[in-house]
Amino acid sequence: MKRAWLVVAIVAVSALLSAYGVTRIGGTPQPVIAPQGVSVARPAGTTIEVTYIANQGVLIAAGSTQVLIDGLHREYRSSYPFLPEPYREQFETARPPFNEIDVILVSHAHRDHFHPESVARYLSYNTATTLVSSEQVVGELQARKDYPAIASRVKTITPPLTQRVATVAAGVPIEVLGVGHGRTGRHATVQNLGHVVKLGGKTLLHLGDASTDDEEVFDALNLEEAAIDIAFLPVWFLTSDDGAAIVRQHIRPKHIVAVHMPAENPQRAAADIRRRFPDAIAFTTLLEKKFY
Ligand SMILES: [Zn+2]
Repeated sequence: MKRAWLVVAIVAVSALLSAYGVTRIGGTPQPVIAPQGVSVARPAGTTIEVTYIANQGVLIAAGSTQVLIDGLHREYRSSYPFLPEPYREQFETARPPFNEIDVILVSHAHRDHFHPESVARYLSYNTATTLVSSEQVVGELQARKDYPAIASRVKTITPPLTQRVATVAAGVPIEVLGVGHGRTGRHATVQNLGHVVKLGGKTLLHLGDASTDDEEVFDALNLEEAAIDIAFLPVWFLTSDDGAAIVRQHIRPKHIVAVHMPAENPQRAAADIRRRFPDAIAFTTLLEKKFY
């Protein structure tokens, strides 16, 4: 009888955890995964489909063009969501629905955004894909034995802090932004790139791990003139006064999508975001989709 109650208790606690958007893999709390194999109808009038991968990874699709930002990484420390098996293997080996990515952008080389083996594998399985990233990210790929096979599809762009560099990859206009990872502190030398991507008639912004201490960086980048439709912003820009000021004065996006949500209790962070930005959407379910 006691054992039966224990089973009931375990089931109840598991149900409660998944209702709050958390499951556990080993010791790591993980967001729930959206059911796959169910086709999600694209609402009329939308041109962009965004699929949340994990942490700051987003797959943006418009028509037959797809751009991935920061989606190819692996399990790294317990605070960061990652795509578990079997999805990771499916993704890295470019099997459907991950077989049509035209451009991979990587903000920076930290392991909650980028794993060199994941990116190298994807590029070798999908020979139609191009990578654009920084010297530090590309440097890690160049150190690999399999680099010669992918080298012709890798482009290095590392704008200095506060600079914007325009490029076109697979026909997609992209601006690479030198936003940095905080000008002081332990990540000061990390080449962290922001991206402005024009796709499906919309302008999208991704900031990587930009810092809210760097108001002058955003002042100099002059992003307000880019007329951002959708901004993928790390949670700390939306839960702090400094971050909110940068968003309101320098980014001014029509839509906000919160990324880099904590693996533990993302619902609490989402509620915290809504206090300053009631209309923001927070990605907390892996492989969920939003349409714009
Ligand atoms: Zn980082």
